[in-house]
Amino acid sequence: MIIFKSINKLNKEVNFKADIGFVPTMGALHQGHVSLIKKSQKKCKKTLVSIFVNPAQFNNKKDYKKYPKNIQKDLKLLKNLKVDYVLIPTVKDVYGNKSKKKFKISKSNKILCAKYRPGHFEGVLGVIDQFIKKLEINKIFLGEKDYQQYILIRDFLKKKTNVKTILCKTIRMNNGLAYSSRNGLLNRSSINKSALLISKLRKLFIFLRKNLNNKIIINNFLNKNKEFNIEYLELRNKDNLSKKISKKNVKIFIAFYINGIRLIDNF
Ligand code: AMP
Repeated sequence: MIIFKSINKLNKEVNFKADIGFVPTMGALHQGHVSLIKKSQKKCKKTLVSIFVNPAQFNNKKDYKKYPKNIQKDLKLLKNLKVDYVLIPTVKDVYGNKSKKKFKISKSNKILCAKYRPGHFEGVLGVIDQFIKKLEINKIFLGEKDYQQYILIRDFLKKKTNVKTILCKTIRMNNGLAYSSRNGLLNRSSINKSALLISKLRKLFIFLRKNLNNKIIINNFLNKNKEFNIEYLELRNKDNLSKKISKKNVKIFIAFYINGIRLIDNF
């Protein structure tokens, strides 16, 4: 495993003709990240994992500051997985001296997390744009856990590049809660409570699939789970996130708070 702290060095030493799969992460790695890496290793000759906590995608400075970091543990895990290349760039390396150019998200895309985290996806697309410009990768592996992010990156890359986006399924703990770096900020009781909410959501979704957009049932669920401060709970079309839903294309999306930590999920 070769660790690069500069994009230039990486570009000098890595042959991008070698079919490289790219797994961008913000570190504090868990089983979700591991599954993306394993998929890349299966599909590509070489795998590049980046660890970069992108300041541009945090709409809240406190959230950025307290984002979990554990670089030594991450590197150990990546080494055990026999990852070929790891990139740990600095903010300056990614963005240069230029002020971070903000991408625009169209009005119709200002839904779900884009509605509640202004500037977030603009920052996500900004960093992906920098990576794509600076690294000649041809495949990028993204998790279903952040489905709206996947859709936006997929559409952005389709318009601008030949880079293929590969969607990887959400990996969950035995209790059903999706792995997330933010889980590291929660105690056992908050994890258990969140897992219980997700299991109730699964039951709700089974019902809603047969009774699409049943507002009374949704409101009932929101009222019964007020302690989670549910930010949104919506059914959307999985192909384009529109509200044109049918039993076949529907997905449920949730964002909620537990102990001040914001978690998202979908299935
Ligand atoms: P992050 O480090 O949170 O920015 O995530 C890096 C990548 O891992 C993104 O493509 C996420 O969607 C993906 N990811 C995060 N959690 C999971 C999970 N539980 N299962 C699958 N992929 C995940």
